[in-house]
Amino acid sequence: MDQARRFPLPPGSTIGVFGSGQLGRMLAMEARRMGYRLHTYSPESDSPTGQIADLKIAAAYDDCEAVRAFAKGVDALTFEFENVPSLVAEIAAEEGVPVRPSGTILHAAQNRRREKSMLRRAGLPVTPYHFVKDVAELEEAVQEIGYPAILKTAAFGYDGKGQTRIEPGVRPSAAWQLFGGQSCVLEAHVDFERELSMVAARGVHGDFAAYPLVENRHVNHILDITIAPAEVEPAVAAEAERLARRLCENLKLVGVLCIEFFLLPKSRIDRDVQSSGSAATGRLLINEIAPRPHNSGHWTIEGAVTSQFEQQLRTVSGHGPGSTEMLRPSVMLNLLGDLWHYGEPDWQALLTVPDAKLHLYGKHEARPGRKMGHLTVTADSTDAALETGLAARAALRRH
Ligand code: AMP
Repeated sequence: MDQARRFPLPPGSTIGVFGSGQLGRMLAMEARRMGYRLHTYSPESDSPTGQIADLKIAAAYDDCEAVRAFAKGVDALTFEFENVPSLVAEIAAEEGVPVRPSGTILHAAQNRRREKSMLRRAGLPVTPYHFVKDVAELEEAVQEIGYPAILKTAAFGYDGKGQTRIEPGVRPSAAWQLFGGQSCVLEAHVDFERELSMVAARGVHGDFAAYPLVENRHVNHILDITIAPAEVEPAVAAEAERLARRLCENLKLVGVLCIEFFLLPKSRIDRDVQSSGSAATGRLLINEIAPRPHNSGHWTIEGAVTSQFEQQLRTVSGHGPGSTEMLRPSVMLNLLGDLWHYGEPDWQALLTVPDAKLHLYGKHEARPGRKMGHLTVTADSTDAALETGLAARAALRRH
């Protein structure tokens, strides 16, 4: 694009995003609101992001010429999912277009092995684990870690894909075969009290901002509900922010990042915490990170001064993060394809609920487990928001 582009990029500039799902769509909506142009690149046509973007390119991620042409047409690049080949970042660098977060962060987040090593190097507390690359190593690791354990492919799956639990009586070799002999990470099964996450952002000048810590409830390994803020002791929230800050600084992040935590019950701290630095004295273990906006941050669209998508736009374009102040307690409920089982959900019933905010991602095919949209409810308390949200979602279901 314009070789004389100057940062921070003003509205009117063009942001390129690799990936074209709902995260890119919500980014594109914020871009439109703020007067930025947004181009999307992915192998899919008629995508959630493409329906909103100013330009959509449907091409393979390893199509060097198409990636190069795309990079030339934008002022800064970002991504909405991690599994974009590192080649993309290399080509962007050759074209002099900044990729935010950097290709190094993208590379680390693409693989559990690299991610865990990076977290440990930064002195951050992670679940006890072993890397395994054959059955013999797996058997040894199971002996050390004990039952139950969770075997995860090193290459990232998502929403619980690419992982299996190894219970007493299950032969490790059977679990190993499930993933076709790919290198894996064996993790101790953590008997957590709750799952929590924190979305944070860091600008190019190092300015850091974190949203309140939230609680996540999963069903079948897929996020179901996010409750913001999480009802935890202030010390836990402070610890989460300290860990998030440390991670963002360590990575020199420019962009948005989400950390998923397991909250240990007070009585379990000694057993489960790996001795990996001073941060390991608390009740939080990091399960995984995502260097982009996250499903557990969708509540920020209605519930915070700055949405996580505006935050991505701000930081990628070279501005500082906006205020992460929460406006009201909020609850986000995912709408999965299962809701379509008996036909189109009852939108009329939902829209009689004045406080429910509907988000649909423009996906045409509703498959079980597929994220089709979400609802957000804000209220005076998380209990009230949850009650309204659950009732609103139930009203959608046809029997
Ligand atoms: P992941 O894909 O690693 O985020 O895992 C998806 C979900 O599986 C998590 O949100 C947890 O509910 C569960 N899970 C993953 N790893 C563990 C673990 N080591 N111990 C207990 N539950 C886990």
